[in-house]
Amino acid sequence: MKKPTRDERQRGCTGKRRYRTQGDALDAALLAGVERRRKAYLCALCGNWHLALA
Ligand SMILES: [Zn+2]
Repeated sequence: MKKPTRDERQRGCTGKRRYRTQGDALDAALLAGVERRRKAYLCALCGNWHLALA
């Protein structure tokens, strides 16, 4: 399995909404009513949290 390139990893970060904490990310998912279909993950690129499809 090849490692994702820097560009590929940035695509998972750039353009995504960023959250300061996991709680912020999960709150946002909750407000949107999608908490069951999203999971929060800590981004190694920007150091913030993003939501991904669960
Ligand atoms: Zn990021």
